[in-house]
Amino acid sequence: MRIYPFFSSSSGNCTYVGNSDEGILIDCGVSAARVKAALESRGIALQAVKGLFITHEHTDHIKGLKVFTKSTGIPVYSRGATLDRLLDAGLLCSASHSVEPGVPVKAGSFCVTAVKTFHDAVSPCCYRIDTDKVSCAVCTDLGTVTEDVLDALSGVKAALIESNYDMGMLSRGPYPRELKERIASYDGHLENSQCAELAVKLVKAGAERLILGHLSQHNNDPVLAERETETALMRAGFERDVHYMLMAALPQESRYFSF
Ligand SMILES: [Zn+2]
Ligand SMILES: [Zn+2]
Repeated sequence: MRIYPFFSSSSGNCTYVGNSDEGILIDCGVSAARVKAALESRGIALQAVKGLFITHEHTDHIKGLKVFTKSTGIPVYSRGATLDRLLDAGLLCSASHSVEPGVPVKAGSFCVTAVKTFHDAVSPCCYRIDTDKVSCAVCTDLGTVTEDVLDALSGVKAALIESNYDMGMLSRGPYPRELKERIASYDGHLENSQCAELAVKLVKAGAERLILGHLSQHNNDPVLAERETETALMRAGFERDVHYMLMAALPQESRYFSF
């Protein structure tokens, strides 16, 4: 099993979980052509993609959705209100299936469970993916790490988690005040130190591969984000490359983790 953060930043998100035989995509926040090229360059055929799971309707998660669904016919899964919003906007051109938080659905041999998140979208969620051997999660766009999220992510071997901004960079940065407040609010995005706290809880519960994702290109730096999480894990008694592996995903990322 592998987790590929094909695209990960505030300007476009798309993650593939699986292998060359089968897997799922989470979000389609860059053009369909870029998603297809990313799959092809890793030797993953379109037929291997058993479903496209959408977390929420913000552009950085659905930008390529219309063309991708029209040209591939790959079914889309999301929470009901998000699907309604996407249908109304004419962005869904393949079959769509609604998912309920906490109720697993099958996509190929993957069991995918939506987890409710706090974020300023109509019905946002993140996803936990289980096979009969391993579990992982893709969890971004979190204003707050809720008990729901912690429970749902407990015991995963690998996780892509949000490390969106550094508080100092955000406050000194170029964004208007309202946007800064939105990002830092309880239904905005996760700061590096909040991500680090989540990372400690996940590693304590058995996670061995962590990808820091959805980094802001204006308000964060991959080195800073990695350092914050690594330091928190070190304080908790976990050593990098001994107890866990870590990467901060670049906006377009060629690396992946196997687990
Ligand atoms: Zn969002
Ligand atoms: Zn986002």
